Amino acid sequence: MTNPVSKWNYPTTVFFGVGRINELPAALASTGISNPLFVTDPGLAKLPVVASTLAILDAAKVPYGVFSDVKPNPVESNLTAGIEVFNKGGHDGVIAFGGGSALDLGKLIAFQAGQSRPVWDFEDIGDWWTRADADKIVPIVAVPTTAGTGSEVGRAGVITHEASHTKKVIFHPKMMPAIVIADPELTAGMPPFITAGTGMDALAHCLEAYCAPGYHPMADGIAVEGVRLVLENLPKAFHDGSDLIARANMMSAAAMGATAFQKGLGAIHSLSHPSGALYDTHHGMTNAVFMPYVLAFNREAIEERIERLAAYCGIEGGFDGFAAAIIRLREELKVPHTLPGLIKDLDMDATRKDLIAEMAIVDPTAGGNPLKLTKEGALRLLEGALTGT
Ligand code: NAD
Repeated sequence: MTNPVSKWNYPTTVFFGVGRINELPAALASTGISNPLFVTDPGLAKLPVVASTLAILDAAKVPYGVFSDVKPNPVESNLTAGIEVFNKGGHDGVIAFGGGSALDLGKLIAFQAGQSRPVWDFEDIGDWWTRADADKIVPIVAVPTTAGTGSEVGRAGVITHEASHTKKVIFHPKMMPAIVIADPELTAGMPPFITAGTGMDALAHCLEAYCAPGYHPMADGIAVEGVRLVLENLPKAFHDGSDLIARANMMSAAAMGATAFQKGLGAIHSLSHPSGALYDTHHGMTNAVFMPYVLAFNREAIEERIERLAAYCGIEGGFDGFAAAIIRLREELKVPHTLPGLIKDLDMDATRKDLIAEMAIVDPTAGGNPLKLTKEGALRLLEGALTGT
């Protein structure tokens, strides 16, 4: 290689460890937030983990508002409603509390509440983010309760454009949370399906970032250790949700995946995004279904890289050994092998397949796939995930 060129970005402050949620008032104070809007989702809002976190704010006499109208795979009406509550309450920052859906929506409220342009003007395409009024973006403290998306360390929010059934990635460097509180105990209540799906999302991020072409040794290094952490800890967290060491390692792997994927993602995500937008499936689970098909599809471009990764993870058998380990992991986590196993009563006709393939090749993640993702290739991958071949 001659004259490598790249761009690196790793600026988030993370308070990591069991019990660190107690430092939420201090985190708010240090970011200058005096009246936060606490953004979470309706399922979490009913769980003790939200009540105990709000009790920490009450004890510290921090005034706050709560907004919990956040769908999994959030949509524009969630954002509009959140902005209204934010502005009515005179809030000066956001606590984004939850999985990727609540984290993203909280980040998008902080980003969008003061903007005059519609959110769709800030999609992560070229330098459209420069249209935003950066001074109007309020600070964010992010508190993840799943270990998968890594949204807490990212500069993007994903939101579904309902009219076109498209998941859009909205990007701005100032959407990056000022402080992350990564307390593994907050993830202990995740049911096994969510533990598996979110954990496989972290794996998809690490794996696709590592396989994406381009010069980024820092992302590569983070991604390989992220893969190792997932392989070692996800089954433990799945079988025993109270294993806080496994939960902590998965929380790290999630942040590592999102840190690494600034290098790029690939066809797992390119296919998962339209499938998730059209069928409202869980993002990480959908990634998990596509993973082995995409791995096999890209083989000629990534074989040597995967051999090194397998060796690092202590897996024998090179590429084939690694691919088999992914299949075994999926089986252990009860991940369906095909899309019909994930989506009830799925009946995908040729027009729908065509649409998904067309959406996949223009998805912003397609550019990171090690082999060029053509429509024919996307259709082949989709057929594989439909039939299990
Ligand atoms: P999620 O946020 O949609 O949550 C899934 C379910 O888990 C919800 O019902 C929620 O109430 C529940 N849950 C969350 N934490 C829990 C806990 N501790 N205990 C019990 N239940 C809990 O799921 P997710 O996978 O974390 O996020 C998916 C979203 O993130 C999608 O919209 C996806 O597109 C987006 N995403 C964003 C990025 C990014 O970089 N911003 C990256 C990947 C995915």
